[in-house]
Amino acid sequence: MSPQKFSKTRFDAALIRQWQQLGYTSARQMTPHQWWQALSSVLAEMLATQPPAPVKSGQRHVNYLSMEFLTGRLTGNTLLNLGWYDEVNAALAEYQIALSELLEEETDPALGNGGLGRLAACYLDAMATVGQAGMGHGLNYQYGLFRQTFADGQQHEAADNWGRDRYPWFRHNAALDVQVGIGGKVKQDDSGRVYWKARHQLTGEAWDLPVVGYRNGITLPLRLWKAVSAQPFDLTLFNDGQFLQAEQAGIEADKLTKVLYPNDNHPAGKRLRLTQQYFQCACAVGDILRRHLQAGRPLHTLPDYEVIQLNDTHPAIAIPEMLRLLLDEHQLTWEEAWHITHRTFAYTNHTLMPEALERWEARLVRDLLPRHMQIIKEINRRLKKQVKKQWPDDSALWHKLAVVAAGEVRMANLCVVSCFAVNGVAALHSALVINDLFPAYYRLWPEKFHNVTNGITPRRWLRQCNPRLAALLDETLQAEWTNDLDVLAWLAPWAGKKAFRQQFRTIKQQNKLRLTLYVKSVTGIAINPEALFDVQIKRLHEYKRQHLSLLHILHCYRQLRDNPDNPDSVPRVFLFGAKAAPGYYLAKNIIYAINKVAEVINNDPRVGDRLKVVFIPDYRITAAELLIPAADLSEQISTAGYEASGTGNMKLALNGALTIGTRDGANVEIAEAVGEKNIFIFGHCVDEVKALKAGGYSPKKLRKHNRYLDSLLKELEKGVFSGGDKHAFEPLLDSLTKQGDPWLVLADFEAYLAAQQRVEALWRDQEAWTKAAILNTAHTGRFSADRAVRDYQQRIWQAAR
Ligand SMILES: *Cc1c(COP(=O)(O)O)cnc(C)c1O
Repeated sequence: MSPQKFSKTRFDAALIRQWQQLGYTSARQMTPHQWWQALSSVLAEMLATQPPAPVKSGQRHVNYLSMEFLTGRLTGNTLLNLGWYDEVNAALAEYQIALSELLEEETDPALGNGGLGRLAACYLDAMATVGQAGMGHGLNYQYGLFRQTFADGQQHEAADNWGRDRYPWFRHNAALDVQVGIGGKVKQDDSGRVYWKARHQLTGEAWDLPVVGYRNGITLPLRLWKAVSAQPFDLTLFNDGQFLQAEQAGIEADKLTKVLYPNDNHPAGKRLRLTQQYFQCACAVGDILRRHLQAGRPLHTLPDYEVIQLNDTHPAIAIPEMLRLLLDEHQLTWEEAWHITHRTFAYTNHTLMPEALERWEARLVRDLLPRHMQIIKEINRRLKKQVKKQWPDDSALWHKLAVVAAGEVRMANLCVVSCFAVNGVAALHSALVINDLFPAYYRLWPEKFHNVTNGITPRRWLRQCNPRLAALLDETLQAEWTNDLDVLAWLAPWAGKKAFRQQFRTIKQQNKLRLTLYVKSVTGIAINPEALFDVQIKRLHEYKRQHLSLLHILHCYRQLRDNPDNPDSVPRVFLFGAKAAPGYYLAKNIIYAINKVAEVINNDPRVGDRLKVVFIPDYRITAAELLIPAADLSEQISTAGYEASGTGNMKLALNGALTIGTRDGANVEIAEAVGEKNIFIFGHCVDEVKALKAGGYSPKKLRKHNRYLDSLLKELEKGVFSGGDKHAFEPLLDSLTKQGDPWLVLADFEAYLAAQQRVEALWRDQEAWTKAAILNTAHTGRFSADRAVRDYQQRIWQAAR
């Protein structure tokens, strides 16, 4: 399709309506926030008149189901994708309004925790850009991920009321309402037909955000479902003075989509969470079936037209919901219903960690969703028949494969059994999905298993967040790379040219200056923009090992004190951004430790501007957009085997940061792409991690043998960084020694220090460093979300059925 053209006439007319609706007599009366509101409403209106993209013949419509969509700010990104930025900038200049300042008025819709939610947002952007028909289904949370502040180094959480009720990008269509039941009983009518008599009824309202493809005239909806009361407000009760009862039903419904659970890679196991999951799935499946039937298509052709892609197991309950509708509402036989469902659903696995795999108490499922529990048991019964036929005497094996066992429903197993495709999110991870997580399933159905390495959208993560580098790429490549990222490979020869390296370095320096101002404004800390910016930004989790970087910081501090006049010492700024789940005690202790160490180092006059440690509060998309273009070094130091892919690693490498990382997730493929000379790989690999764990790893012994490491840990133990408080970092220290160092932080310490020394050696040769940085940008085109979406098309969505 061709891009939609900007119409100044329509823009001006719509803008006038905006301030007139506010009762103003002139546009100049609007506050900056009202200007942002008005601009966004105008753009949303102009977009709404665009005809929907036609589905290409033979292409299935993709329904991307995710409990999280971490979109980031929409107004600037939409303008960029439409290609209207300059025109709108000029139109607003007539009012002496600076567009760039208006865009700062938008609050991030933080409707996700981290990588998984951001991935969903990147994939919708890429689907719109490559012309894949589809849409997202998620939840319209009133409160997004909490706002983080620090008080004396400790994380505090505040509610994130991001303003869904005034968000100008939402479009609500009441004709799309879906009715959702909860609780109650399974009954039989006179003819013996099974049906579900739910106890509560909710209404799901469809609130759509537009996802605009890159300059191609295509917009896809991100449909966020909002729960409201199905019962009308009871005026009789109200008149009788029973206000509370009158409102009761409404209050219960509103609760459901009030808040996003703040856990990343860790299920909460709460009743309200399961209710949220079911509500979203019932809305999505109801919507998909309605669309199919309204198009006049017979039920059994559903898999020819629709795919439902599950982003992890969070929306897995959509599977029994589809079966229920086909069996109970449409009266299909089990075989017919299964045949349809099985060919419609595909599942993306995001983690191997047993504690992160979702399992629901069977009692809870039965209580909330009695009919679904029956259906899940029937899936389990039929699976058992198949497994017993294949492996008649292996009850241990059956125990692993069962969907329902030990009073729990295992959602990952439900997905593998029911879906036509299962994929991991990086080559290494997909191999582990087969070999470690689902080996017996692989023997049953080898053709189901795929890899699709994650990707990121170059629109937001290069063109938008790094406009200076984008301009240099435009000028140098003389070709459109924004929707064809492999074009970046043409950059490789330029890495050999001194003048180009100077341009590239200048841009990095300007981005570092921009970040320096931001750091000063949010933390008060003055950092040295000439120093090496060492960046670790991601959720706080033990497996991501922010505490390994902390040990390295202690080492840097020690070196500065022991050898203050070392001419070779490399000035560094450590920049962290990370939220810890509010109930994750150890993760919060790691934040506290980093902040307390930072306080001492940053205020030590002996250190000056050779070393600074900054924990940027409230890490979110908007902060990432400032940090990533300014990073020199990207910390990707998870324990090998635990980071399924990572996407932060891709964003940073694309923007010319060098990676220091383990052979984990997509780091393996980044190393392959950029070449081992242009990345710093260290530490135990997956097999070595396994061997170490099997062979009785003892961090206590390791400490005894490594006196230097021991002395660094002792500083934390003795209260050097906590005003003499010897217990301040006890949870962290206990985990590293008494609890056996489950994430092998101490085991990788020495290799990590050695890798950091290689980093410094290269940094001292700025020409060589810049060359490596350019080659990182040049060779990370394959991590575009456009490539990932095409992989999904070829391997899963359009594969022969
Ligand atoms: C990309 C991104 C993530 C994921 O980062 P990882 O390093 O892959 O864990 C998390 N949060 C935000 C805000 C992001 O933009």
